[in-house]
Amino acid sequence: MQFAERMSRLGTESAFDVLVRARALEAQGKHVVHLEIGEPDFDTPAHIVEAGVAALRAGETHYTPAAGIPQLREAIAEYTSRTRGVELGPERVVVTPGAKPIMFFVIQALAGPGDEVVYPDPGFPIYESVINYSGATAVPLRLSEERAFSFAPEELAGLVSERTKLVIINSPHNPTGGTISGDALDELARLANEHDFMVLSDEIYSRMLYDGVHKSIITRPGMLERTIILDGFSKTYAMTGWRLGYGVMPLPMAEQVTRLAVNCNSCVPAFTQLAGVAALTGPQEPAETMVAEFRRRRDAVVAGLNEIPGVSCLTPAGAFYVFPNISSFGQPASEVASRLLDEGGVALLGGTAFGAAGEGYLRLSYANSLPNLELALERIGDTLARVRDSGLGTRG
Ligand code: PLP
Repeated sequence: MQFAERMSRLGTESAFDVLVRARALEAQGKHVVHLEIGEPDFDTPAHIVEAGVAALRAGETHYTPAAGIPQLREAIAEYTSRTRGVELGPERVVVTPGAKPIMFFVIQALAGPGDEVVYPDPGFPIYESVINYSGATAVPLRLSEERAFSFAPEELAGLVSERTKLVIINSPHNPTGGTISGDALDELARLANEHDFMVLSDEIYSRMLYDGVHKSIITRPGMLERTIILDGFSKTYAMTGWRLGYGVMPLPMAEQVTRLAVNCNSCVPAFTQLAGVAALTGPQEPAETMVAEFRRRRDAVVAGLNEIPGVSCLTPAGAFYVFPNISSFGQPASEVASRLLDEGGVALLGGTAFGAAGEGYLRLSYANSLPNLELALERIGDTLARVRDSGLGTRG
């Protein structure tokens, strides 16, 4: 079969590949601790499920407007205005099946051959994949451990030019759990105004912040008309399988993104959207309880990893990932990750699954129970001891 040339430029998200490999090992009777996939291990809160079921029973099973039902767009506009501290109307909101399509639609709407798009490295792999698919040039912006995985403002200044159409940021960040410093946001806003580019701000983990308050680039001077906020329900309300996300963006952008949605998915199911209204307007305790539990796990995982000889791990400020440094083992991160799965029974990702700058790191999602995390830490310690021995063996 012959496929269009652009298909060769499309990447993937290797968390799903590792999940398939881990399931295959389980099918052979091997026990695996799953730390690969970025999804809360909690059930969707009951009142949200009830709202979805009630909507189904009430016959909410038909097409809806492509940008979303008015009640949800209003609830999202109100929520985003309140949490970001800027006034945003419902006409700026486009509701999508999960937040991922916002990446696809925004990049396709803004960038093509001859354009450049800056994206975080390491970063969520879909950014680079979709930039390449659009025909634009993907320009990596390095996030370094020395800066707690924020970026150096002067490095960004060196990457942008008149060809830059879009800069993508993500804070709190997948895969490192880092957040972007205020200085870096200031410089990004200054550069966006100077070079006339847009910013896609992936804020899907904004409610999963353990230290400090979430600050969006949209509050910076001139950024109201240059920012697309990507957010959704998957992480905050443990609704990954419902497929409900959104973008909040300037009106001309919302019109283009809606046109892409009409061409692609038509709309999001009405019952899912009504569950989303219940999530935003109902009790927030379940979401807060989940974050408190993630904080306990983060502390346990960071402490456990730092006890393993040769591993060092920063304490992330947000999301539910850790990104330990394993460069002392002198082995490719992807190989270490494979050995951890095959020999240790721990499914996780090599840092390079998130870009070249992830070499020397592993990514673990701690969206798993404390007992499972403790078991994983023990297995990681044992397997890495073998990795170290085999490394010394080949060198000796
Ligand atoms: N943005 C980031 C940084 C993510 O990690 C994810 C999911 O893993 C998404 C967006 C996509 O979320 P959704 O499941 O709502 O499409």
